[in-house]
Amino acid sequence: MTSYIDPHIHMVSRVTDDYKRMALAGCVLVSEPAFWAGFDRSGVEGFRDYFRQLTEFERKRAAAYGIQHHSWLCINAKEAENVPLSREVIAMIPEFLDRPGVLGIGEIGLNKNTRNEATVFLEHLDLAGRLGELVLVHTPHLADKYQGTRMILDMARLDSRVPPERICIDHVEEHTIRPALEAGHWVGMTLYPITKCTPARAVDMIEIHGADRVMVNSAGDWGHSDPLAVPEFIFEMRKRGHPEPLIQKIVHDNPLAFFSQCRRFSRPQRG
Ligand SMILES: [Zn+2]
Repeated sequence: MTSYIDPHIHMVSRVTDDYKRMALAGCVLVSEPAFWAGFDRSGVEGFRDYFRQLTEFERKRAAAYGIQHHSWLCINAKEAENVPLSREVIAMIPEFLDRPGVLGIGEIGLNKNTRNEATVFLEHLDLAGRLGELVLVHTPHLADKYQGTRMILDMARLDSRVPPERICIDHVEEHTIRPALEAGHWVGMTLYPITKCTPARAVDMIEIHGADRVMVNSAGDWGHSDPLAVPEFIFEMRKRGHPEPLIQKIVHDNPLAFFSQCRRFSRPQRG
């Protein structure tokens, strides 16, 4: 069985049985970005409680199944329309950065590509630049994806304190993977049952663009999604005859290499 990492999954929205099924399928480590709860939080204290959940309770729940849990902190793009609240949350994040398992700032990004979203994105990037943190970036859905990705790449290029290899551009698709890789970033392909990218499309993209700086994730959350999507990708790679070392690079070694740039990150013991 291939040991794998799911570098983007919202476990707060999943049941404990999902941890068990993921462990049985070979999952050894997850990283959980902060995201939208499905409703707008009423104030900064809601985020404080959420960050405690990510850095305290989820780590324990994962550890019970032998899975190392890591997290990313931010206010997400959907709530970034509230700029004063966003600034309160950004000011609070440093309190949590030294908590066990925190990898950096994320998933920041754009949703509808608005001016307020761009303002809050840049302020998160400034925090990462000042404190030397890694960044995980959500790119918008469907019709807004190409334009939003261009805006994000432009904004990231302007801040030289965060080198491109310390940023992962997530949810890339066929029309956005090349510019993100060419800018020097890591990329994440999200395997969703309907939108974003299927396992077969992800393997197509690997065959076209190669596997350097590429990861795959389930982005499992409270919506229609599959916490076992990475094993589905492994299955599709094997079906097409790709060698095991290439599979291991994408689902294990690449995320470890990206996370290892975080000074607090300690590599899991190999089982
Ligand atoms: Zn997400």
